[in-house]
Amino acid sequence: MAIFDSANPLLETTILFKKMKGMFNTQAIKHAIVGFQTKSKNNMKKGMDMPVTMKAAVWEGRLNINVKEVAAPPSPQPGWVNIKVEWCGICGSDLHEYLAGPVFIPTGEPHPRTGIQDQCILGHEFSGSIVSVGEGVENISLGDRVTASACQHCGECLYCKEGHPNLCETVAFTGLMNHGGFANFVTVPANVVYKIPENVSFESASLVEPLSVGMHAVKKAGDLKGKTVAVLGAGTIGLCTIMCARALGAEKIIAVEVSKERKNKALELGANIIVDPKEGDAIEQVKKHTGGYGASVTFECIGHKDTAKLAIDLTRKAGKVIMVGIFEEPSSYNFFEVVATEKEIIGSLAYQNEFEDVIKMISDGLLETNSLVTGKISIDDIINMGFEELVNNKDSNIKILVSPN
Ligand SMILES: [Zn+2]
Ligand SMILES: [Zn+2]
Repeated sequence: MAIFDSANPLLETTILFKKMKGMFNTQAIKHAIVGFQTKSKNNMKKGMDMPVTMKAAVWEGRLNINVKEVAAPPSPQPGWVNIKVEWCGICGSDLHEYLAGPVFIPTGEPHPRTGIQDQCILGHEFSGSIVSVGEGVENISLGDRVTASACQHCGECLYCKEGHPNLCETVAFTGLMNHGGFANFVTVPANVVYKIPENVSFESASLVEPLSVGMHAVKKAGDLKGKTVAVLGAGTIGLCTIMCARALGAEKIIAVEVSKERKNKALELGANIIVDPKEGDAIEQVKKHTGGYGASVTFECIGHKDTAKLAIDLTRKAGKVIMVGIFEEPSSYNFFEVVATEKEIIGSLAYQNEFEDVIKMISDGLLETNSLVTGKISIDDIINMGFEELVNNKDSNIKILVSPN
C-alpha cells in the first residue's frame, strides 16, 4: 500500500517488486505491474482516496485478454481526472485487437506520450462519474456524470492547433494507446471529458463515442437535406451513420447490407431502402432508386477492398464518397473514373468536436440509443459473453455494454 503514497514511488516500487519476487512467481509480478504507475504526489488531492488495485480487462496479446486485479490509477496528475466507470461498450476495434492484434496497441516500443507497450486496459466507449480531479481542472467537477472522447492529443502540433485532435501527431487513443474503460476506474485528460445531462442515462452516454464517429462522417458530407444517401454496411458505425444522416435531414437513405438482422436494424433506425448485393447488381439497384444517377453521398462503413470501389461506383457524378471503414487490404481502382466524374473521396477518422452535438441530440430525443444495445454484461463475462459472443453471433449483435462493477 505504501508505494502509492510514497514521495519516491519508483524506488519504493522497485523495493516492493524485489520483496514480491521472493513471494510470488514471476507471472504474478508481471500482472501486478500492469495498470498505473504512480508518478509523484505534488498535486493537490481533490476527491476520493483511490483504491490501490481494481479489476480490469487487460489486452496482453492476440486472443489473450485477461480480467484481473491491476494497479488502480493514483490521484490524477494536473489537468487530468479519474472517472468511476459505469458502462463501457465493446467496439469493433477492441474485437480487432482480440482477434488480430496488435493493431493499434503499441508493441516493440512504447507510445511516445503514454509509455504504453505490449499490455493495455482496453475500452474507449465509456460513461461514468468523476471521482477525483487533478490540479488546474476548471471545467469538470467531482460527481459530474460524463463520457469522453478517445482522442488524447498533444494540443501543440500543427493538427491540434488547426482543430484536428483526431489527427494529432502523437494521438493516444484511450483503451488502445493508454489505459481504457474496461476497469473500475479510468484516468483521462479533462479536455477530452464531456458532461452528460440528467436525462441521458449512463447506458446512452456510453454510445456517444460511436455516434460521434457517425456524426463526424455525416458532417464531412456537408448539407444532407433533400439528398439521397447510401450507407455500405449496417454494423455499429453504419447504423450510427444512418441515425445521424436521418437526424440531419437526409431525404432518402439506402442501406447496402446482406445480413437479414442488420437489414432490419437499418430500417428500424432510419434507412428507407435496403439494397442487398446478393440479390442483384448493387449499382443498378441504387441507380433504380435514384432516377438512374446514383447516390449523392455514399458512406463506406465496411472497410473491405471491394466495397471501397463499390462505394465510389454507386455514387453519382460530382457526388461525395466518405470512407469510414478500417481497410486491411489495398483496393485497385482506376482513378480516371474519379477525374472523369468529379466525385469527391473524403476520409473520416473518429471525430473532432461532435460530442457536444451528439449528447444534445440524445438529450433532445433526436437520437435514440436503446436499439443499439444488444447486451449488458459484467466484466467477469467479457470474453465469453462479450468478445466471443460478437465473434459467434455477429449479425444479431450491435453493441454489448460491459459493467466493471
Ligand atoms: Zn469505438
Ligand atoms: Zn497534437
